[in-house]
Amino acid sequence: MRTLTVNLGARSYPIYLGRELLAQAGEFIQRAGCGEKVGIVTHPKLAELYLPILEESLKRTGFRVVSVIIPEGEEHKNFASLSLIYDRLIEERFDRGSCVVALGGGVVGDLAGFAAATFLRGVPYVQVPTTLLAQVDASIGGKTAIDHPRAKNLIGAFHQPRFVVVDPAVLLTLPEREFRSGLAEVIKHGIVLDAAYFADLEAHLSALLARDLPTLTRVVAGSCRIKAAVVERDEQEAELRAVLNYGHTIGHAVEAVTGFERWTHGEAVALGIAAEARLAERLGIAGADATARQTGILQAVGLPVRGSGAEPAAVIEALARDKKARDGRVPFVLAPRIGAFRLVFDVPQAAVLETLEELA
Ligand code: NAD
Repeated sequence: MRTLTVNLGARSYPIYLGRELLAQAGEFIQRAGCGEKVGIVTHPKLAELYLPILEESLKRTGFRVVSVIIPEGEEHKNFASLSLIYDRLIEERFDRGSCVVALGGGVVGDLAGFAAATFLRGVPYVQVPTTLLAQVDASIGGKTAIDHPRAKNLIGAFHQPRFVVVDPAVLLTLPEREFRSGLAEVIKHGIVLDAAYFADLEAHLSALLARDLPTLTRVVAGSCRIKAAVVERDEQEAELRAVLNYGHTIGHAVEAVTGFERWTHGEAVALGIAAEARLAERLGIAGADATARQTGILQAVGLPVRGSGAEPAAVIEALARDKKARDGRVPFVLAPRIGAFRLVFDVPQAAVLETLEELA
C-alpha cells in the first residue's frame, strides 16, 4: 500500500492506494476516529460487486452499517437522492461523529459528499472511488454537489473527505467506455502539468489499455499525486485549479449542445482537448508537435478528436454561457507545450470558430 497526502493544514488527509484495500476500510475509519455509525452510499451494481467486502470490513471492526442504494446515472445526482440519504441518516439517528462512505464513481462521490457536507452542518465522509475518473479526479479535492434541472453541479459545497481509498483492482470490472473516458482526465493531467508523466503514458499505452494492474496502479498513483498537488495549492479553486479545466471549456460546451447524451464526459473532454490544442497552435502559442502528440494519444486510446456532432456556432453560443465567461468571452487554459499551461483571457471568437469548423 502507498499513502499519498493531500496537505491542507487542519483539513489534510491521506489517499490510501493499493490492491485489496476495500477489505481494510474498517480499520482506516477506526483510525480516523469516527463514531460507531457508518452510512454507505452506492449504486445497485456496485452493491453487488463491492458492498459485501466493505460492509464485512466495517462490521468486523465493530461499526453499525447502513447502506443507501441510489439508482445509477447522472440524472439521480439530484434532490430526490439527497433526500433519500438524509431520510436514512435521520431514521438511523446518525450524529455528528457518524461517517458517510461514498462507494462509487463521481456521481455517488459528489452526492454522498454533499449529503455529508450539509447533514447536521457537516459530518465526516470517506471516498472509495470505483471509476477511473473518480480515482484520479472527483474523489480528491472536496468538491461536492448535486445537479439542478437547469445545470450540473449548481448546488454544492467544499467539504474535504477524511481519507480516500483507491483500489485500482476495482477498475477491472469497469465497462470499457467508462474506462477510456476516465483516461481523458489522466491524459489531461499529463498535458498541462507533467511532461514526464505524459511521456510515460505514451510509452505504456497498450499495457494501460489492457488494464495491466502494475501499470494501472502506477498511472493512477501519478494522476492522484498531480491532482492532490493542484488542490494543495488552490483548495477553493481561486486560480491554479482552473488548470484542470483544460479541454473542459470546449468539452462542456459540446456536452451541452449535444444534450449530454451523445458523448460521455470523458469523450467530450477529449474533443475539447483536441480543439484547444489546435486553438493554441492557431494562436501561435504552441507548435504543431504538441497538437500531434495530444491528438495521437487520444486516438490511440479510442477517444474522439473530431466531428463533435455539434454546430460550431451553437458551441460558441454555449461558450458564452460558460460560468467563467465575462462579456461573452471565456478564458481558456491552453498548453504552450506538453507539461505546461497558460491562462489566456483574450482569445478572439473568430479563432475559436475557425478551430471548431476545422474539426467539425
Ligand atoms: P458515474 O459515477 O456515473 O459512474 C459511471 C458508471 O460506472 C455507473 O453506472 C457506475 O455504477 C458504474 N461503475 C462505477 N464503478 C464501477 C466498477 N468498478 N465496476 C463496474 N461498474 C462501475 O460516472 P463518473 O464518470 O465516475 O463520474 C461522473 C460524475 O463525476 C459527474 O457527475 C461529474 O460532475 C462528477 N465529477 C466531480 C468532480 C469533483 O471534483 N467533485 C470532478 C470530476 C467529475
